[in-house]
Amino acid sequence: MWDSASDARLRRELMAWLSVRTHDGAQSVATSDLADFSFDGERFRVMDAQRGIWKPAVLASALSLRTTYRMPGQPRPYDDRTGDDGLVRYKWRGDDGEHWENRALRTAMWDEVPLVWFFGVGPALWHPVFPVFVVGEDPRNQEFIVDPDAARGLVSPGSVVEEHLRRYVLAQTRRRLHQPVFRATVLRAYEGRCAVCSLAHVELLDAAHIVPDSDPGGIASVRNGLALCKLHHAAFDANILGIDPNLKIEIRADLLEEIDGPTLRYGLQERHGEHLRVLPHVRAERPDRELLAERFAAFRAAPLAG
Ligand SMILES: [Zn+2]
Repeated sequence: MWDSASDARLRRELMAWLSVRTHDGAQSVATSDLADFSFDGERFRVMDAQRGIWKPAVLASALSLRTTYRMPGQPRPYDDRTGDDGLVRYKWRGDDGEHWENRALRTAMWDEVPLVWFFGVGPALWHPVFPVFVVGEDPRNQEFIVDPDAARGLVSPGSVVEEHLRRYVLAQTRRRLHQPVFRATVLRAYEGRCAVCSLAHVELLDAAHIVPDSDPGGIASVRNGLALCKLHHAAFDANILGIDPNLKIEIRADLLEEIDGPTLRYGLQERHGEHLRVLPHVRAERPDRELLAERFAAFRAAPLAG
């Protein structure tokens, strides 16, 4: 018998399972791995590979949402934009608000149940964000309003909010949703290796932005990203290491003169003049040359440290 208690237990167990499977969000999960989830000893489907909104037959409301990965340049079928209130939008399935998938998500809103939002970060590869809550609906724009648990109770959906509150909600959404999805996408594209030194320890890798993210309400494109180890990320951000539009590495002139231990020598000086060692296999996911040129100009223009 399914009642609200078993519904709540299922959602809790699914989220606990996903935490373990993703090492608390550090790793993505493949579609095939999702099939391993079981509840009370039986396999239980947690996402529909064909549909955006998934409602298992035994539940009264939706369990998960899904946004598929699109290669750079391909249009996204469902827009997941951020509204003026800082909350994220999820498009209706089709344009019939009474479609059963839309009804399932609306029921999740009425029941205030937590959902999992699966973001595609590559073909058949997902970064789950949870818990998220459907906090409103905008029938005029045919979309639901989703809170990635950042603004609970702070913002009413669709309301005009003060600028500083909106900025706070946007920053929380970026931290909870946009940055983890960007990171997972970039690390997947670079197969978990630093572009400069090919270090392959995910714990020591970051997804660096080539230029600062210009769209605070969206997920940065993989083309504005580089997988870099902690050392090379910090060196890139501090303008100690530059990457020209032809993917050649340049180390700041004064550092090349310095004499110090192995980290300076192997980590930085000997990388000077090399090309990036690791790039995405898919050409469309490689760094954008114009963004690299813009960033490289800033690197060249940066003053040398005293
Ligand atoms: Zn590195």
